[in-house]
Amino acid sequence: MQLTNQHHQVQGLRILDLCAEFGTPLYLYDTAVIAEKIRAFQSAFHGLDLRIKYAAKSLTNLSILKFMRSQGIGLDVVSIQELELGLLAGFEPGDIVFTPNCVSFEEIQRGVERGVMVNLDNLPMLERFGQEYNDRVPCCVRINPHIAAGGNYKIQTGHADSKFGISVLQLARVKQIVDAYHLDVAGLHVHTGSDFQSAEAFVQAAQILFKAAHDYPNLRFIDFGSGFKVAYREGDAVTDVADLGIQLGEAFAQFCESYGRSLQICFEPGKFLVSECGLLLVKTNVVKTTPTRTFVGVDSGLNHLLRPMLYDAFHDIVNVSNVDATNQRVYTVVGYICETDTLGWDRTLNEVRPGDILALKNAGAYGFSMSSNYNSRFRPAEVLVHHGQAHLIRRRETMEDLLRNQVVVNFEPEMIRVNGK
Ligand SMILES: *Cc1c(COP(=O)(O)O)cnc(C)c1O
Repeated sequence: MQLTNQHHQVQGLRILDLCAEFGTPLYLYDTAVIAEKIRAFQSAFHGLDLRIKYAAKSLTNLSILKFMRSQGIGLDVVSIQELELGLLAGFEPGDIVFTPNCVSFEEIQRGVERGVMVNLDNLPMLERFGQEYNDRVPCCVRINPHIAAGGNYKIQTGHADSKFGISVLQLARVKQIVDAYHLDVAGLHVHTGSDFQSAEAFVQAAQILFKAAHDYPNLRFIDFGSGFKVAYREGDAVTDVADLGIQLGEAFAQFCESYGRSLQICFEPGKFLVSECGLLLVKTNVVKTTPTRTFVGVDSGLNHLLRPMLYDAFHDIVNVSNVDATNQRVYTVVGYICETDTLGWDRTLNEVRPGDILALKNAGAYGFSMSSNYNSRFRPAEVLVHHGQAHLIRRRETMEDLLRNQVVVNFEPEMIRVNGK
């Protein structure tokens, strides 16, 4: 999110005022940023029959899902629960693709009963699907192209040792199963993981799908998943979607020609659409100097933003309370969890004083959606700014939420026996 000018506002609303109104820690989202990302994506692929399916897992709040729907895009879900959220948000089953990994066949069946396109990611389930539905229910097949692309190894999904998708080396077996059960393969899918920047990796994966596609005469779409890299620091290399649009668009048009028919081209961006729309706003509890460094301890931590500790992710940090400071210092920003939960190492910030609000940027994607109650802390509130108005879209948790599912057993005091006495 652009922290516009010196006043640190979102759509004209002062961030400090929002923190005073809704409290901290607070997740704050800006719909204007999401809309801008959608437009950028659409314009990169104009001229093609493009379907954007927002990857719900990056930020699942119902109001965000409803906003996506209002923008005319579809949804990619990875669990039956996300699927239910999508339907609750008003998506039509036809706008949803269900891409689960290693789930039971019962979950796949529930997806079919809900009327969504299921993306099958292993041979046993493809065969089960064939036995159950034959040609009565169209499906999509997820292929693992064996391309290692992307950032942190933990977020790569398209390499040979990954659990995702059906190996490109097993395509002959896919074809056998499809023929044996007369499966109606409506789509081929590939999702090579997160954070690769070059159009090349996409085009490489695309060529593999294009080749495979000729075995499936009934296709309606090809789904290239996601993996778009966004800037977490100033100057970070990012996926150039305009360039991707040109390179992949050209390859796709050529493919359609050789296939004999125009197909839909689908993508499932998560991070690309919502990373930059979100801030995590936290309050400084303490500034603590040790012989080696100065820590800023804030009222949040890895329970609310896991990415720095899980992926060594960098989230830019800004002191929103002290914008006119003349002095800057180097700080290590840490959370209040009893576990090492560094949010940012060695950050040069405007002088931080107790009570100052810090903004962690790029917190829209995989921020709240990966949050937990570790240390029995409440998860933050979420606020959405739309057309210059702030809407509370999730209340801060309370003690009641923590206790909701606990079933308490009471114990009578017991005498402790020593040596059998
Ligand atoms: C997670 C996921 C995405 C979204 O990835 P981003 O890097 O957030 O864009 C898309 N498709 C599938 C199948 C996924 O599992």
